[in-house]
Amino acid sequence: MLHHKKLSGLYIHIPFCRKACNYCDFHFSTQLHSLNRMVKGLAKELKLRSSTPKSSIDTIYFGGGTPSILADQSLNILMETIKTYYNVSTSAEVTLEANPDDIDSDKAKSWKRAGINRLSIGIQTFNDKILKILNRSHSADQALKSIEWVRQAGFHNISADLMFALPDASDILLNTDLKILMNLDLPHLSIYGLTIEDKTVFGNWKIQNKRAFPSDADYERNYRIVHEVLIQNQYEHYEISSFAKNKHFSRHNSSYWLQNPYLGIGPGAHSFDGENRGHNISNNQIYLKQMDIGHAQLIIEPLSLTEKMNEYIMTRLRTHFGLDFEQFEEKFHRDIRNDHLKFIDQICLEGLAFLEKNKLKLTFAGFLISDEICARLFYPIS
Ligand code: SF4
Repeated sequence: MLHHKKLSGLYIHIPFCRKACNYCDFHFSTQLHSLNRMVKGLAKELKLRSSTPKSSIDTIYFGGGTPSILADQSLNILMETIKTYYNVSTSAEVTLEANPDDIDSDKAKSWKRAGINRLSIGIQTFNDKILKILNRSHSADQALKSIEWVRQAGFHNISADLMFALPDASDILLNTDLKILMNLDLPHLSIYGLTIEDKTVFGNWKIQNKRAFPSDADYERNYRIVHEVLIQNQYEHYEISSFAKNKHFSRHNSSYWLQNPYLGIGPGAHSFDGENRGHNISNNQIYLKQMDIGHAQLIIEPLSLTEKMNEYIMTRLRTHFGLDFEQFEEKFHRDIRNDHLKFIDQICLEGLAFLEKNKLKLTFAGFLISDEICARLFYPIS
């Protein structure tokens, strides 16, 4: 069992999508007939995992899957259940992930009324041909229109997802996508390079040599273009894949990276109580049966002290928060700076990292090889 004495984030996983994107290995189903039953199950889990006195919540995040698939009434049920069983801060950040094809004027207004105050819109690219290759359910026009609708409904805190290193894409296409995106002037962007995962359509195509995918060199060049264009446009590259203007950082995700406790609701959702991690089963039908009998079973992932130390190193170095030497010593009783004195000096000299107020932070060059840097700083697992 996890002990959630203090919560800061609440994540609700909506495990349904209209169709499967060819690159995606998240937990979702396209069998929408069990959507209403799932909403009841999620409401039940919210109640089962609540405590007395109520836990305080600073951020709520509806992720997926595709949360924008929820009917207005279903979203209202979930929001009301959260407010009944949790102590939601009046200034809470409440994010909903949305796909452009689900957005119209009425939908955007109903989200606003339900208490959503931040939207994360999955655009990926503005090129219709590539959207088809990705098997996305929307068009470029719908993406542009969706931003208009949500702005007209009064949303300012908007994030968009874009992808690079896409099949059949080129630097010209990426620059075109970025130009369109910069014109939209959104406060937050999440920009990911495509990675080919096993058990996805792209994974199969790759094994069967059915399509050429960008090389590591393409990936690196594209990532550099993204970084440079965004910096020129006053975005802060505050996490490996995240960019914010005027400090509009994602409070929910920042809380993950700072290792604050959070509760994950729904099939496959992860939770963290400040010490240990756990997750729900990634199977909609088994999850629903568990909710029917009122038994929310969490699969605990016990972490050794060394694993916790390495996780701290990894999550901190991927963000602008940086690896805090003093905090590391307080938490783990190890002087990491001293343990890795030579290596830290070397990466700072090579322009891969820098020191700021007793914290080690990576530069963009460091982000490019962050896995290698982290691996060198990790403590051996016995
Ligand atoms: S909409 Fe999102 S979660 Fe659903 S298949 Fe596509 S990328 Fe995956």
